[in-house]
Amino acid sequence: MNNDDFRAWSARAAAWGADYRRTIRERPVRAQTRPGEVAALIPAAAPETAEPMEDIFADFEEKILPGMTHWQHPRFFAYFPANAAPASVVAEYLVSAMAAQCMLWQTSPAATELETRMMEWMRQALGLPDRFTGVIQDSASSATLNAVLIMRERALQWAGNRQGLAGKPAIRIYCSDQVHTSIDRAIWVSGIGEENLVKIPAGGCSRGMDAATLDAAILGDRAAGHLPAGVIASVGGTSVGGTDDVAAVGAVARRHGLYLHVDAAWAGSAMICPEFRPLWAGVEGTDSIVFNPHKWLGAQFDCSIQFVADPDSLVRTLAIRPDYLQTHGRDGILNYSEWSVPLGRRFRALKLWFLLRAHGLAGLRTMIRDHVAWSKALAERLRALPDFEIVTEPMLSLFSFRHRPAGTDHLDAHNLVLLNAINDDGRIYLTQTRVDGKVAIRFQAGQFETTEADIDTAFTAIVETAAGLA
Ligand SMILES: *Cc1c(COP(=O)(O)O)cnc(C)c1O
Repeated sequence: MNNDDFRAWSARAAAWGADYRRTIRERPVRAQTRPGEVAALIPAAAPETAEPMEDIFADFEEKILPGMTHWQHPRFFAYFPANAAPASVVAEYLVSAMAAQCMLWQTSPAATELETRMMEWMRQALGLPDRFTGVIQDSASSATLNAVLIMRERALQWAGNRQGLAGKPAIRIYCSDQVHTSIDRAIWVSGIGEENLVKIPAGGCSRGMDAATLDAAILGDRAAGHLPAGVIASVGGTSVGGTDDVAAVGAVARRHGLYLHVDAAWAGSAMICPEFRPLWAGVEGTDSIVFNPHKWLGAQFDCSIQFVADPDSLVRTLAIRPDYLQTHGRDGILNYSEWSVPLGRRFRALKLWFLLRAHGLAGLRTMIRDHVAWSKALAERLRALPDFEIVTEPMLSLFSFRHRPAGTDHLDAHNLVLLNAINDDGRIYLTQTRVDGKVAIRFQAGQFETTEADIDTAFTAIVETAAGLA
């Protein structure tokens, strides 16, 4: 592709993006395709000869687009939306054109220094004390893996990377039973082993772990010759928003000298609003925090921020310095590749800079406050109907409900049928979970361009679809 073609196709792609966003409400939110349908449209091997861009682009629109679930659809109420506010998409066009590798300061000084500045902006925006230093990771899963690796290395007095885990006492990590599966995977990948992830049953209306039970588990493990290493607290579990009392859990962790990581992947963005900060009271005393600006803040996926109180322990765990990566002669520079498992790093700070400037913190706070208020109002509208029950109360913008018409047995199966019918209808997209063993339907508002009218549509779609099943 020559430069003139590149210019023309870039303009066409940008125009396509704008048209796509303008008309996105006309599409069903969840892809209405069957497994294998798209693959059947794609040749089994790469072409030997070049094809015209016109054909490639046409195939994208014809074969790919119908098989997409539309994550930027304002009526995406499933999982937690992975957002891409237009200002951050524009930044990604630029990042994509430059395609810089931002592993070391010298491989892109501006990327490193903007990242440092953005982390300071975000730390202040979240009301965190300046003992925290931030770094952008690709995902919360990576940030949590880093935290678990630090826990392991601290507990083994920094010998794990060199010696492995054979012959060492069992390293124990503690969390509630509401944590995201990324915690389980971090425990697998770090070699600690799932049997050494101690899940404390969550209870109470916030569905958090009990600090006294945590304390007893740690004491019991010490007595058994195990090696307690860290605690992972959840602020806003993915299922129904399970939230630990960070202050109480943190006090136990500190008393035992354990490292404390907080997973606030979706809920963390809400902390730009001071009134929501009591939800993570005690966070100022933790060791590591992860939250995803690519979720509620609107930064184009992927952008996950990890704040650490002691960056040296992160670098000590992950830094590896072969000769070809040595940089000489400059003091005080940061090489962020030493702060993450992957060596290569995309320039993710640019989209955060564009986003924060294009909307301002006040604009982002308004969006989050609206989502929380609208979600609560929807829960009340459903609660007021005789055939619906609210299973878990709104945690910020997340609640779960169940349809319970009189005379219907097998409510689990009934609610799964309802969920599928809602998603086949296409006006909205919801996902399910289990609460105390029973199927519940989740509702989560968090898409960047959701309006109050979209929430009304959700109410209508839920109620109409349920009526249609009767
Ligand atoms: C989304 C989510 C994650 C995983 O985030 P990734 O960035 O996709 O790894 C982890 N924890 C919670 C609570 C989440 O909501």
